[in-house]
Amino acid sequence: MSALPSNVFLFSIDLEDVRDFIPAGHQYREAVPVNTLKYLDWLDKINAKATFFIVGKTARDYHDLIREIIRRGHETACHTDTHVHLTRTTPDAFRKDCESFLTTMTGLGATSVKGFRAPTFSMTEQSKWAYGVLREFGFTYSSSVLPSANPLFGWPEFKGEGMYDGIYELPMNIGTWPVKVPFGGGVYFRFFPSFILNTQARNTFSKGRAVLSYFHPYDVDTDQERFMHPHMNNNPVLNWLMYVNRSKVFAKAESLMRSSGATIMRYDQYLAAKMPTHE
Ligand SMILES: [Zn+2]
Repeated sequence: MSALPSNVFLFSIDLEDVRDFIPAGHQYREAVPVNTLKYLDWLDKINAKATFFIVGKTARDYHDLIREIIRRGHETACHTDTHVHLTRTTPDAFRKDCESFLTTMTGLGATSVKGFRAPTFSMTEQSKWAYGVLREFGFTYSSSVLPSANPLFGWPEFKGEGMYDGIYELPMNIGTWPVKVPFGGGVYFRFFPSFILNTQARNTFSKGRAVLSYFHPYDVDTDQERFMHPHMNNNPVLNWLMYVNRSKVFAKAESLMRSSGATIMRYDQYLAAKMPTHE
């Protein structure tokens, strides 16, 4: 077991096909494989292993891609079977979802799936029953909470990293003023300049915490057609932000790592090194 580096960047990709979430989405070009390969090639270039939170349906659509993620040594974790929001499902339906996901992943050669990320950070006060279901299916950790008020989801009263109902929760990092948002991934990571991101990362590391992230295939898709993304409330300004700085993700991640000497790790290996007794 490797020792825990002092500054850890938990780089992760939520592997999903945005075309599945918008009306007539499949009129747009296929973009998941080419953009996932950009992540895989960049991770090889910097010699790092990361975590892919995968939607079961996307795994069924792209068998070879999932096998390639496993072949290159990355962790495969769960982003639900059909990108279901936990606040809109029931314990029984969620059990079926987990079962279907795990059947798909086992069939593709995943040997140990321990991690879970709720779509759109929908683990909240109302949906925390889901921890019990995750435990039933052998999951050991989750990275599903946005510990702040948010127009979509969020669990502002959440107490911080730790064990919840038998599952270790790694909530998103919320930046300090004026960046009181989850700066480590997606649109916020692309929007803020490196000097702000790097300061926020150093603040996080100085508190002994890892910087968590949540990237998607579309975050590096520089050729994507213009369409209204889900959860934007049809707001053109928010939607414009969805396309900002997609060509800069890898350079900014490298800048963050240089600025604080941070190391990228798989979530499961980070937790194993941090808590050797945690299974
Ligand atoms: Zn997602």
